Parts: sequence; structure tokens; C-alpha cells
Amino acid sequence: MRKVIIAGNWKMYKTQAEALDFLRGFLDHLNETPDDREIVICAPFTALGTLSKNLHGSRVRVGAQNVHWEDAGAFTGEISAPMLVELGVRYVVVGHSERRQYFGDTDVTVNLRLRAAQTHGLIPILCVGETKQQRDANETEAVIIGQLDKDLRGVDQERLVIAYEPIWAIGTGDTCESEEANRIIGLIRSKLNYPDVPIQYGGSVKPGNIDEIMAQPEIDGALVGGASLIPNDFARIVNYKT
Ligand code: PEP
Repeated sequence: MRKVIIAGNWKMYKTQAEALDFLRGFLDHLNETPDDREIVICAPFTALGTLSKNLHGSRVRVGAQNVHWEDAGAFTGEISAPMLVELGVRYVVVGHSERRQYFGDTDVTVNLRLRAAQTHGLIPILCVGETKQQRDANETEAVIIGQLDKDLRGVDQERLVIAYEPIWAIGTGDTCESEEANRIIGLIRSKLNYPDVPIQYGGSVKPGNIDEIMAQPEIDGALVGGASLIPNDFARIVNYKT
């Protein structure tokens, strides 16, 4: 039985005070949330400890947005898995397209980050996806298979989440057709050696399209950027209707 995971990616938004404000508007909506889904908030490093303390006892898990592969060392600006674990973090986004595009993450470093996260008991959410240019050149499948092949070397697929995030759909309002997302996610699943890996869709998920996305048989959840910043919107997303 595959797990459903709805994760918010707050990116570089929300101070600690704003994170607490968000919780005040969000947590009450979870009384009606069915038990079949895990809810995760992937916050900036500075808000992780605050979230952990204030989510204790709730069903929401805390996630980070990056992790270094060494436990400690001269790596200015990076953060290690033991540091995240100490803050109560359970999930970590690895290989988000913004990290690959702006901060030099490659399939090699993504692989190192995935393995380090798992060594310390964190569950990585690996992001894969194609650019608009690659899609237009009919390279979507090849790009994704290439990413999986390199990123997943030596990774334990039984403790992993994958997010299919077409880059052209991130933050653009341009959602991938749900049938097409379902097709690509089916392709991803066919390349795995553990078939129950939860595979999310990410890219302009909103209250208005989540029900249709989650109705697709291969899609096991969503990675949500912009809409996860707004308590009512994220609540409607986690309370998607089947
Ligand atoms: C993301 O940041 O992973 C994302 C999918 O963003 P958005 O939902 O805003 O497109």
C-alpha cells in the first residue's frame, strides 16, 4: 500500500514569527483530514526548530530543503543531517530544480545528499523533472530516466519519496495535465526496484486542481510551493477530496 504525502515547500519564505502565524491558521483545519495522508512542511532552516516545537503532538512532520553529505566540516553555508535530526526534522527535499539551477547541484551531489540523509534516518524527497526546452524537444523521458539512474545509485528505495516536478510548471501557474503527470509518474515507477515509493506531482498545485491531480492512480501526493504559504489554501490541498 503506497503512502500519500502532501508536502509544502516554503522555499525562502517565512520568519519564525510568520511560521507560527501560519500554524495558527492551518492546524485547526486538520480535524477533518483523513488519516490516509502524511502532511509535511519543508521550511527554511531558521524556522525548523520553532516548527518542531509547535507541531509536537500534531500529525504534521517537519522537512528541510537541503542537506550536506558530510556530518560536519568547512562547508560555509551548508547544513548537515545530524543538525537537522537534532531539530526534529523527518524529511528533506533534495535536488529541487532551484538548487540545481542556481546553486550548482548536480546528479553527483544530489546522490551524495540523498545517501547522507538516509544514513541519518531522514526521508529524502528527490525532485526530478524536465525544462520546457527539453519537453519541446521530446526529451522528457530521457531526462528523467537519466536523473533517476544517477541520483539513485546506492540509495535505499524503501525510504524515499520522489517528486515529479516539470520545471516549466513550477511557480508559473502552468500545471502539467494530470493525465500527463500520471503517465510520467508511471514511467518513473517502472524504473524503480521498489514499487511502493510514494511519487508526488509538483508544479502549480492549487486548491482548484488538487482533487483532479489526486484522482490519478499513479500520483501519491503533491509537493506544493506557493500555495503552501497560505493556511487556507494549503489546508484545502491537504484535505483534497477523493
Ligand atoms: C515547488 O517549489 O516545488 C513548487 C512546486 O512550487 P509551486 O507549487 O509554486 O509551483
